[in-house]
Amino acid sequence: MRHFPIYLDLKGRKVVVSGAGAFALPKLRLLLKTEAVVEVYGADAAPEVKAWAQEGRLRLDERALAAGDAGGAVLLYGANDDEALDRRAAEIGRAAGALVNIVDNLEESEFITPAIVDRDPVTVAIGTEGAAPVLARKIKADVEEMLPPSTGLLARIAETFRAAVTVLPEGRARRNFWSRYFASEGQRALDRGGEAAVRQRLSTMLDEVGASADPKGQVALIGTGPGDPELMTLKARRLLQEADVVLYDTLVTPEILELARREAVMIHVGKKGYGKSVAQDEINRLAIEHARAGAHVARLKGGDPVIFGRLDEEIEALDEAGIEWEVVPGITAASAAAAGIGKSLTRRGRNSSLNILTGHDVDGFAEQDWQKLARPGSAAAIYMGLKASTFIQGRLMMHGADPSTPVTIVENASRDSQKVVSTVLGSLEHALKTGGILGPAVILYGLKPHAALGVLETIAPTGAQVRTGTR
Ligand code: SAH
Repeated sequence: MRHFPIYLDLKGRKVVVSGAGAFALPKLRLLLKTEAVVEVYGADAAPEVKAWAQEGRLRLDERALAAGDAGGAVLLYGANDDEALDRRAAEIGRAAGALVNIVDNLEESEFITPAIVDRDPVTVAIGTEGAAPVLARKIKADVEEMLPPSTGLLARIAETFRAAVTVLPEGRARRNFWSRYFASEGQRALDRGGEAAVRQRLSTMLDEVGASADPKGQVALIGTGPGDPELMTLKARRLLQEADVVLYDTLVTPEILELARREAVMIHVGKKGYGKSVAQDEINRLAIEHARAGAHVARLKGGDPVIFGRLDEEIEALDEAGIEWEVVPGITAASAAAAGIGKSLTRRGRNSSLNILTGHDVDGFAEQDWQKLARPGSAAAIYMGLKASTFIQGRLMMHGADPSTPVTIVENASRDSQKVVSTVLGSLEHALKTGGILGPAVILYGLKPHAALGVLETIAPTGAQVRTGTR
């Protein structure tokens, strides 16, 4: 992020615009929405600018900006559409200590003006660092659609009611009150009876909430999917956005954590998926402690919590502590991996069952029904299988599996860094090494990628093929 978005208080402060022609109009229109004192310099002023000057909305001097004009200005815009004039304006502005923006010239500007959705006092600023103005306009249109024109009015009424709502305890109770108001109650009252009805509704809502009991904490055990935030369920997203405390695993990506409220307490309780558990008791203790204090806890787990997620242990602990909980399923890594290679995990005539295996369990490498797995046509999604790959390969071949059975490894499924290695059982070990697979990865036994996906690299001498990067 090269440009850091902030909101600048312009009340009563001087903003200078060098240039009074048509080129300066868009910026002037924006500035006139603010409470700044706007001073415009430039010969050949556009009729609109002259009219604004006459109405007293800005001060116009119909001559070029000169040294001394920018004294005390906080911002200076160069909008002459003339390189020499703009350069001179920038010098004058900088000498006066103002931040300078040259319209349509990113490199010469110290700040840029974002696209703005104006629902005063609610404003949304959209910036793309100059990279994609068309995208900014599209986002602006989307946001405008999302925020009805009444948004500003509802926010202003809320502001006048803020002091009254302090009778509710700080935190969840107040937040819930305002969420209800902004999500539905406010707009409904406005449609029914205008501003007066909104004020009336706020009063009755406050009475209703005041009469109800203390808030109760709870824990949502949420599957966040394989990493791509778009692969989260709507419910997972909502509960994450509402959470006071977030306990998250290593597999949960930063893009997903971004969705939490800024005030939420974020606690990393990462543990590797195998071997000695890193303080499962500690995770349980944290969830219980926060829920007891009335918090809504989001316990985020990569993929689907019902698959290799140690879900039962956490539920038992919550039951014992008498804490309310719910489970939100997610997209498991095997589904994302199969989607990533364009193949189905089951197929009529090939495999009518799918094995979901772990390479590791509490006792080390996990034993399986190797005989069954070794049969032609069987398919398995192997989780946590990297360390155990030699063991798995050996066991399967010992039980008669064909060394030419296709095996596909999908690392970082659904993420930008997704990597696919396509090989055969006899070369699994070698392919993992040469493919530089570090995990997290799912080994899809019995499946090969869709032909159209195009393989970019072939690992000699085994014929294993690697495809990276693209989804
Ligand atoms: N509950 C998770 C699995 C947790 S066990 C789920 O349903 O996906 C951890 C293992 O999941 C990793 O060792 C790896 O085998 C697999 N895994 C998780 N996320 C993955 C991803 N994005 N790509 C590939 N494998 C992943």
